[in-house]
Amino acid sequence: MGTTSNAKPTVLLVGGGIGGMAAALSLARLGISVDLLEQSATIGEIGAGLQLGPNAFAALDALGVGDAVRRGSVFTDRLVMMDAVDCSEVASVPVGEAFRARFRNPYAVSHRADLHGAIHEAVKDHPLIRFHTSAQVEALDIGVRGVTAVTRDGRRFSADAIVGCDGVKSVVRSKLIGDAPRVSGHVVYRAVVPAADMPEDLRWNAPVVWAGPNCHLVHYPLRHGEQYNLVVTFHSRDREEWGVSDGSKKEVLSYFEGVHARPRQLLDRPTSWRRWSTADRDPVANWSEGPATLLGDAAHPMMQYLAQGACMALEDAVTLGKAVEACDFDLPAAFRLYAAARIPRTARVVLSVREMGRIYHAKGVERLVRNSLWTGRTPERFYDAVEWLYAWNPEQCLADARLAAA
Ligand SMILES: Cc1cc2nc3c(=O)[nH]c(=O)nc-3n(C[C@H](O)[C@H](O)[C@H](O)COP(=O)(O)OP(=O)(O)OC[C@H]3O[C@@H](n4cnc5c(N)ncnc54)[C@H](O)[C@@H]3O)c2cc1C
Repeated sequence: MGTTSNAKPTVLLVGGGIGGMAAALSLARLGISVDLLEQSATIGEIGAGLQLGPNAFAALDALGVGDAVRRGSVFTDRLVMMDAVDCSEVASVPVGEAFRARFRNPYAVSHRADLHGAIHEAVKDHPLIRFHTSAQVEALDIGVRGVTAVTRDGRRFSADAIVGCDGVKSVVRSKLIGDAPRVSGHVVYRAVVPAADMPEDLRWNAPVVWAGPNCHLVHYPLRHGEQYNLVVTFHSRDREEWGVSDGSKKEVLSYFEGVHARPRQLLDRPTSWRRWSTADRDPVANWSEGPATLLGDAAHPMMQYLAQGACMALEDAVTLGKAVEACDFDLPAAFRLYAAARIPRTARVVLSVREMGRIYHAKGVERLVRNSLWTGRTPERFYDAVEWLYAWNPEQCLADARLAAA
């Protein structure tokens, strides 16, 4: 491998999640030949839902897969926060016509497999993308003349540049930066249930957050309302390590004793749960070096309180392509520009998410402050507050880098 006959550089992408596949599409659409290395034997996503803000649709459209993702999505009517202790409504923000007019795209929820599948359809049809499964990258050689990745089974892949899209425990990041993830101690349980198993009085067409002391519950419909996604989060009393495992109903019930019976009934619905012990990382001032850079959770892992991790990975992918064009295919220069554009924005999201976690899990007087601040707010005030996040668009995605350089 190496530079192709049309003189466009070649790229290795490590990790075939949403971020890696979106990056593959973004680069291949520019004529760049890509090897996508995924450690799993099969291509797919976990069985759970995902919220997609309007910024995600702007990115998906730029990648040419917006309509395919829209077809599998549920467009919600509102975003709702309820107080999980007394069942009062804290906030209910309409995301219908006025929201769409303001942010040029809808707010939606999607099954992860549907989002991943829609992007994968485009990836597998693209002649410039070679998707290698069972390709776990173990060693990297990053030099000025190119990069080589060596997989666990001894295969070697070489190209002009490399993008680490390999998630929270990125091997590419450990080579470039070497910092440790910050295990949050916040544990998430997730399950998808058939609509028939969802309490009738909670079948709302909205992502609903039930905010409780040191915990919260979320539910929203999937697949035309045939299924519901349930997510519950609590502050663990144990010392946690980042990772995914089978959940225990006994454990989850023990954390929601102070919560009202109406949201609490959700905990009985799933027959099985998966358990995520979450982590993020402190933002860094740089994540690109020569022909290597990072994208998605490898670059800026975050907790889930703003439902933006995958949305940010999609924005990253589009911005990477724009930077490559702007730098006329000089990849080290493009990676510097891309990082300069993405770091202020993604750092703001990582830090805002931590604050949002505090608001979700407020207790005592903080809970009263939260409720009094948000109750009765007009939609326009909410829209103003999320303008910076949801109004992202591909045409201006390099603007932050230009600001930083000015
Ligand atoms: C509970 C929870 C809820 C969330 N809800 C939302 C939401 O509603 N909306 C939203 O936008 N985001 C949400 N997120 C965040 C979102 O899931 C992630 O930000 C997103 O999936 C990151 O995608 P990625 O491709 O960067 O990383 P990953 O999805 O982690 O993909 C990394 C890929 O790299 C592969 N890999 C890893 N190491 C190697 C290696 N050495 N060699 C080869 N391959 C490797 C992995 O197998 C994997 O396929 C949520 C996260 C959690 C935990």
